[in-house]
Amino acid sequence: MNVDLHSHSIASDGLLKPAEVAARARAGGVDVWALTDHDDTGGLAEAGAAARELGMRFIPGVEISVTWRADPQSKGTTIHVVGLNIDAENPELMRGLAGIRAGREGRAQRIAFDLGVAGVAGALEGARKYAINPELVSRTHFARYLVEAGKVSSVHQAFTRYLTEGKPGYVAHDWASLTEAMAWIQAAGGVAVVAHPGRYKLGSAALARFFGEFKDLGGRAIEVMTGSHTTDQYNHFAETCRCYGFLASRGSDYHGPGESRVDPGTLPALPADLTPVWSLWN
Ligand code: AMP
Ligand code: MN
Ligand code: MN
Ligand code: MN
Repeated sequence: MNVDLHSHSIASDGLLKPAEVAARARAGGVDVWALTDHDDTGGLAEAGAAARELGMRFIPGVEISVTWRADPQSKGTTIHVVGLNIDAENPELMRGLAGIRAGREGRAQRIAFDLGVAGVAGALEGARKYAINPELVSRTHFARYLVEAGKVSSVHQAFTRYLTEGKPGYVAHDWASLTEAMAWIQAAGGVAVVAHPGRYKLGSAALARFFGEFKDLGGRAIEVMTGSHTTDQYNHFAETCRCYGFLASRGSDYHGPGESRVDPGTLPALPADLTPVWSLWN
């Protein structure tokens, strides 16, 4: 069974409509598919209808932006927690996500101001043009504008030259706390999954501490097979699952043609000894 439980549409920073992402997933041979837009569930109804039409099982999801600190004094790290099989109508979850989206507005203004100082004019209007969901202006939308403005030659280069920590358009931001995000996912009846654990700039001790806290808060699963892991990281995080007793997930983190290295449904299968997160729904 081909399962892909991480993807994005124009409801956040993807390039395709939810129904178009569904079609891409089906074309990649996916049988069970989740749409997991950042901090927003607005694409799920269209995605679910399209998936059913295409004969795929649909899992409603969301990717929540979290700021985690090893202790209250330490600098925060942004971590993405995917909530799978959520009730998108749950009021607690809806309120929580609305709060994160409200925070994105002020952040976008600060990013645009800082980019202006760095010589990039019109960044706020430029990014907004790409953000089809007006409540969800993300760095990806600024990146697309930086390409359009001729400042960089690719979205990837926009991140490395302007939008990552230490670069002129990077603005530190406080997202939801891990405790909040876990509570919202649980209130909505979902299962919490750590997205692309190999991407975080945490040392092994801090990452272990994070996994411990995640588990204590009811976290059940981590992504092992994701578009952002190397082969070494597949093995490393498979071992993490065995160590902590986590269920394993697989998801391309697809954002659209030309911007994603991995198409939906094309990642390697999970190692056979791991328990897939989708075993919860059989
Ligand atoms: P935001 O939530 O606004 O901070 O935007 C985060 C999004 O930016 C991620 O979900 C990715 O889609 C994208 N992103 C982050 N880093 C990179 C990178 N180095 N290259 C391309 N896209 C990136
Ligand atoms: Mn994204
Ligand atoms: Mn992510
Ligand atoms: Mn993602």
